[in-house]
Amino acid sequence: MVATDTALAYTPRRPDPRLPPPRINLYSDTQTKPSPAMKAAMMAAEVGDEQHGDDPTVWALCDRMAALLGKEAAVFLPSGTMCNQIAIRVHCRPGDEIIAHETAHIVTSEHGGPWANAGAGVRALKGERGMFSAEALRAAITPKGRYAANQALVEVEQTANIGGGAVWPKALLDEIAAIAHDAGLATHMDGARLMNAAVAAGVTAAELCAGYDSVWLDFTKGLGAPLGAVLAGSAAFIDQAWRWKQRMGGSMRQAGICAAACLYALDHNVARLADDHANAKALARALAQIEGVAVQEPETNLVFFDPSGTGISAAALAAKLAEQGIWISVLNGRARACTHLDVTAAMVEEAAAAIRAILAR
Ligand SMILES: *Cc1c(COP(=O)(O)O)cnc(C)c1O
Repeated sequence: MVATDTALAYTPRRPDPRLPPPRINLYSDTQTKPSPAMKAAMMAAEVGDEQHGDDPTVWALCDRMAALLGKEAAVFLPSGTMCNQIAIRVHCRPGDEIIAHETAHIVTSEHGGPWANAGAGVRALKGERGMFSAEALRAAITPKGRYAANQALVEVEQTANIGGGAVWPKALLDEIAAIAHDAGLATHMDGARLMNAAVAAGVTAAELCAGYDSVWLDFTKGLGAPLGAVLAGSAAFIDQAWRWKQRMGGSMRQAGICAAACLYALDHNVARLADDHANAKALARALAQIEGVAVQEPETNLVFFDPSGTGISAAALAAKLAEQGIWISVLNGRARACTHLDVTAAMVEEAAAAIRAILAR
């Protein structure tokens, strides 16, 4: 079968040698490279055997993250996907059901992980901008009994990636968590871009995830670290998470090298997320002026737009831009431009001009 042009049918490839390297990389906030200062912090890290509990830098990161997220404990993991998979495995038993939005990362982008790793199915809810309403959740909850699957978990994604980087408001998050807990379900927050939400909403991360039994933050999404994510929850939850980390091969050795990059990111790369949001808004304004382009108003650092009204598809636009060393991504047929710490306001202006030149032809 031939791959389609949606990013969800994506297979990693080596760079095409006929194309220039990316000069302006709006493909994803995962594409950031560690800065010289971050690398210096990594070089200076005090390290030990993480699996054995001996790495002081990993402990420092976990303690800091537990405090930042308002939870009892935290564990360092290689990726956000592993945070989701381990959390789901702790919360769910085979045959259980998870309630999540139909565009959630656990549904669209973890290669069936919930089904395969936990034996848990997903009841996928609809809703605008990657979010579902309290009414939709109430309607999805089935009575406990011997007929329906046992519902174990409600999952939300902050910010909602395919929802356009939308921010779940704190009031809705609290209401969703209360409904879930009243029905005896646990709550999990995929906080890949939780700090973007906190900065955009002017609410602390701990307040946003207060109703959630587990939550994680990705350090490779806009915070600029080369790898790592931290999963937090109660001490009992993290004890269970550690068992699955060990079983799945997520226990590490001198991981303080990477934890040091995450600590550096917390000190230097959180407040500046506001710059990425301003750059995203500027890009959206410029794109909205091109006839035939439909732009979703960005709330954080993701700008989704549909250029098909110009007669040029998102995939064709992305291919043309790549010839000039400008990268964007294509998700579900829409174009996505993502701002991050390696993208300046001048680069955004230049990218907008290049997009206009292609679409106006
Ligand atoms: C990127 C992402 C993940 C997975 O994180 P990785 O660190 O890439 O494994 C999960 N959820 C959301 C919303 C994401 O954007």
